Amino acid sequence: MKKKIDTIIIGAGIAGLGVAAILSREAHQKVLVIDRFPKSGGRMMSYDGYPAKGWRIEIGLHMIELGEKSSCDALNRRVGKTVSWGPFSDTVDIWNGEKFVSVADLVPMSREDKVAFRNLVQKIATLKDHEIEAWDNRSLEEWLAEHVEQPPVRELFTDLGMIMTTIPRAIDMAAGEVLYIARDNLLKTQQVLQASFPLDGMEGVTRGLAEVVRDAGGEIRLNCDVQEVVIKDGRAIGVRIPTGRHPYEEEYRIPETETIHADRVVCALPIYQLQKLLDFNSDTSPLPRWWRKRITDIQHEVTGLIGFMLGLSEPVVDPAKKCFFSALKTRHAGFPFQGFPASNFTDHVAPPGKQLLHTDIVVEHEEASDKFKRERLLALLWEDLKDMFPGIEGKMEWRLPYYVDGCDGLARQPGLVGNFKPGLKAPGIPNLYFAGDTYLGRGLAINSAALSGMNCADLILAELKKNK
Ligand SMILES: Cc1cc2nc3c(=O)[nH]c(=O)nc-3n(C[C@H](O)[C@H](O)[C@H](O)COP(=O)(O)OP(=O)(O)OC[C@H]3O[C@@H](n4cnc5c(N)ncnc54)[C@H](O)[C@@H]3O)c2cc1C
Repeated sequence: MKKKIDTIIIGAGIAGLGVAAILSREAHQKVLVIDRFPKSGGRMMSYDGYPAKGWRIEIGLHMIELGEKSSCDALNRRVGKTVSWGPFSDTVDIWNGEKFVSVADLVPMSREDKVAFRNLVQKIATLKDHEIEAWDNRSLEEWLAEHVEQPPVRELFTDLGMIMTTIPRAIDMAAGEVLYIARDNLLKTQQVLQASFPLDGMEGVTRGLAEVVRDAGGEIRLNCDVQEVVIKDGRAIGVRIPTGRHPYEEEYRIPETETIHADRVVCALPIYQLQKLLDFNSDTSPLPRWWRKRITDIQHEVTGLIGFMLGLSEPVVDPAKKCFFSALKTRHAGFPFQGFPASNFTDHVAPPGKQLLHTDIVVEHEEASDKFKRERLLALLWEDLKDMFPGIEGKMEWRLPYYVDGCDGLARQPGLVGNFKPGLKAPGIPNLYFAGDTYLGRGLAINSAALSGMNCADLILAELKKNK
C-alpha cells in the first residue's frame, strides 16, 4: 500500500523546499511538494545555455547577502548539503550622476566623523534583539536623529540602508530591519554589508534541498497549479489540483479537479498569491476577518524590478573587480539602480573573455504591474546604462529585458518587518502553515525566505514531538 502523505507543501522555492527537506530528513515524513512552474527553485531559477551556448542567466539580478555565512547556506548545511560560493564583493560603487564612486567617497567625512562612524558601527554590533525589535515600526531617519549627531555619518548610513532596503529615503526604511541586517553582517564578517554569488547560480542553492526530498522518498510534482487548500471542520485536509489537460487558455478554463489528502499543508508562496488558494470571501471563509484584512491590506507592499540581463562581447567593467553597483536615483529612469558583473564572480556564467552584467531599477507595485509604465521605464534605464557604462551599446551581444512584481518579500518599511510580518501559522486552523519571504523571518530576501522555511519546519517538528 502507498504510504499516505504527511505534509503537502505548495511552492518549490527555497522556503518550500527547505521545509520539505527538513521534514523529510529530521522527521522521516512523506512529503509532496507541488509547484506550478516546470522546474523547481521558484524565483531562484537559473537558465543554463540561455540565451546562447556558454551563458547562464538567472531570472534577473541576483546576489546573496552573506554568502557562505548566510541563512540559505545554513539551511543547506542543516540538511547535509554544500553550496559553493564565489568571493564576497570588494566594493559597492555608487553612481553620483557622473561617475561611480565608493560609498566612502560619496560622503566627505572629517576625522571626527570617521571616529563617530566607527563608534556607530560598534554600537550596532552590540545591539540586543529587543532593542532592534523596538524599531521595527519606526524609521531609520528617526533612529539616526536619536543616535547620531554628525550629518555626514547619518548620510553615509542612509546610503548603506538604501543598498539593504532598496528604498531611497531614510524616513521610509524600517530602522529595525536595517539594524538587524547591519548587526548580522558585522558579527559574521566585520563589514556592514557583504554579498556573494553562488558558483552554481541560484539554482545551485536549491538543488541540494530538492535532492534531499527525493532521496527520502518524497515527491516534487511540477507543472501543477494548486487550485485550493481544502479546509473542513476547521482543519486543512489537503489540496485540490487539476486533473488531466485542458484545451482552453488559462483565461477561459475551469479545470476538473481532484483532492490529495495530507495531515497538514504548508503554503510556501507569497501572500499576494494566497487569494488564489484560500477562501477570502467574508461569508464563507474559515479564516478570521482581521487576518484576511491584514493580508489584503499589505499584499501589494512589495517592490518590483525592471531590468536587463546583458551579454557583452567584451567587458565594460574591469574583470578583476568584484563589485556591486548602486544609485540612489538614476538620471533618466529616476529610480534606485542596482547592477553587478556576475561573470567577475564566477567563470560559469559567460564564455571566456565575455561579460554578463545584471542590471535593474527598483520600482514599486504601481510601476511593475503596469505594462506601459514598465516599457517606458525600461527605455529610460537603457539611457542610464549608456551613461554609466560608456561603449556598452557597441559591445552588446544580446540584451534580455525582464520585470518582476513582488521581487523580494514585503517592502522593508516601518510596520512591515520583523514581528509585523504575517505569522507562520494560520489563525484558527491548527494544521495550516506558511513559509517564504513575505512571512516572519529576518534578513535580505533569500535569507529571509530560508529562515522562515527553517522556522516553519521547527514549528511543525515541535508540534509533532508534543503530539507523540
Ligand atoms: C529578478 C529577481 C531578483 C532578485 N534578486 C535578489 C537578490 O539579489 N538577493 C536576494 O536575496 N533576493 C533576491 N530576489 C528575491 C528572492 O529570489 C526571493 O526572496 C526568494 O527566492 C523567495 O523564495 P520563496 O520560497 O519565499 O518564494 P518563491 O521562490 O516565489 O516560491 C514560491 C513558489 O510557489 C509557486 N506557486 C505559486 N502559486 C502556486 C500554485 N497555485 N500552485 C503551485 N505552485 C504555486 C511558485 O511557482 C513558486 O515556485 C530576487 C527575486 C527576483 C524575482
